[in-house]
Amino acid sequence: LNTSRQNPELGPVSIRQLRRIFGRKNLLTDPADCWPYGYDNSRRQALPQAVVFASDAEQVKALVELCNRDRINLIARGRGTGTTGATVPDRGGIVLSFERMDRILEINPDDRLAVVQPGVTNEALQNAVGEAGFFWPPDPTSAAVCTVGGNLAYNSAGPRAVKYGTPRENTLGLKAVTGAGRAIQTGVRTTKGVVGYDLTRLLIGSEGTLAIITEATLKLTPLPEARRTLQAVYQDMQAAATAVAAVMAQPVIPCALEFIDGAAIDLVRDYAGLDLPAEAGAMLMIEVDGPADGVDALAERIARAAEVEGAIAIHLAADAGEVQRLWKARKALSPALRKVAPKKINEDVAVPVSRMPEFIDRLQELGRRHQITIVNFGHAGNGNIHVNLLVNPDDPEEMRRAEACLDGVFDLVLQLGGTLSGEHGVGLEKRDYVDREITTETLALMRAIKHQFDPNGILNPGKGFPP
Ligand SMILES: Cc1cc2nc3c(=O)[nH]c(=O)nc-3n(C[C@H](O)[C@H](O)[C@H](O)COP(=O)(O)OP(=O)(O)OC[C@H]3O[C@@H](n4cnc5c(N)ncnc54)[C@H](O)[C@@H]3O)c2cc1C
Repeated sequence: LNTSRQNPELGPVSIRQLRRIFGRKNLLTDPADCWPYGYDNSRRQALPQAVVFASDAEQVKALVELCNRDRINLIARGRGTGTTGATVPDRGGIVLSFERMDRILEINPDDRLAVVQPGVTNEALQNAVGEAGFFWPPDPTSAAVCTVGGNLAYNSAGPRAVKYGTPRENTLGLKAVTGAGRAIQTGVRTTKGVVGYDLTRLLIGSEGTLAIITEATLKLTPLPEARRTLQAVYQDMQAAATAVAAVMAQPVIPCALEFIDGAAIDLVRDYAGLDLPAEAGAMLMIEVDGPADGVDALAERIARAAEVEGAIAIHLAADAGEVQRLWKARKALSPALRKVAPKKINEDVAVPVSRMPEFIDRLQELGRRHQITIVNFGHAGNGNIHVNLLVNPDDPEEMRRAEACLDGVFDLVLQLGGTLSGEHGVGLEKRDYVDREITTETLALMRAIKHQFDPNGILNPGKGFPP
């Protein structure tokens, strides 16, 4: 445990105050109880001095005031499914868990919005608004457990982002408590509004470093009546990327446009015994949704656009069973990867769609140069590629080569006009690379914004910025 200068052991006074704010049942101080709240899916872990469970915004405000007074680090936590260490209290402090502040406060079909507390899980929200005929577009694969607060703080998304956008495009307003202890309200309850600076978008994606979100007004979208699924197989990534550009350039926007590269196809073919053509060098999974009486025509348009030179087979699923079968290759990837390599370094970068073939080619070059197997899949419509370096963590020499390879991957992404993270965020994992993407001047402004929101630097210190 690294207790920084700013974060001395909690004294009896702070503990008494915590008990007063949260009550005995919503406070953990025994290290054995606190330990499980010090990790996330980055597999990093550090011990917080205390864990508190909020149930309302007043408690959050009182806690921020206490942390300012006693200079205690404060780390907001949804369900700890983040992959970059943003919830890990590596400098010690108090973890503020939202798992008990999870109510849906309002569902308003006429205004197409829902008001929620941050601890509600993505899935619970989808189920509740689904009954009214709506959905909230952000759809990370972790939806069953991750919280809306975590989705907002990381701007997390999934396959649907290609058509419906990320939390930034699907949030109307927020209530939050800044690091200085100010209760603020951002945004509107309408689908248009330009009064004041757009603090809603600023807080979304800020990884709990500027303010703690206590309530969110979310923009809902009507559920589509029908969906169609296509699998398109290509001889190489160049052909698949041409198809992606062609699909995205016609008026029917797919609601999912996922790809897996040749190395990934080989892996799942062996692992899951899939019936894919031997010459398959890349594959797209494409879904289209819309009204029941028009969706077949939409699927045909997409199929036509995807039929570019180098296409081997384009197949439209006939029924639900076939949809499942077609998705099997994509779904078999994670277990297949786990089987062939004890550890994968999984990066989530994004490049402009037109640069994807060059990116994949040069990734394979990098892999050869550093003798590291690289497997790629991801959200092709957004150019958001999950680059997986397959490594053995018990082989220090291989890990050194992987580090060098990763460095080359990030340089390559930036050379091609891309970004270091499409959806997983920065946290601790990528903060050392941020100044390669963001200029010194811009970073200075970001630090000034951080200081304005959080003058004592108590909120999630050390996350998101290069040291
Ligand atoms: C199996 C699996 C699949 C995944 N699939 C995807 C995917 O498809 N797409 C994707 O984008 N991500 C994915 N993720 C990553 C992760 O699930 C998402 O980033 C998710 O949004 C995190 O939610 P959480 O509730 O676990 O947040 P946490 O990990 O607990 O926190 C994430 C960040 O939010 C901050 N935070 C939490 N609550 C608040 C609040 N109320 N106010 C301010 N800051 C707050 C934390 O401090 C931290 O910085 C996946 C993870 C797993 C394990």
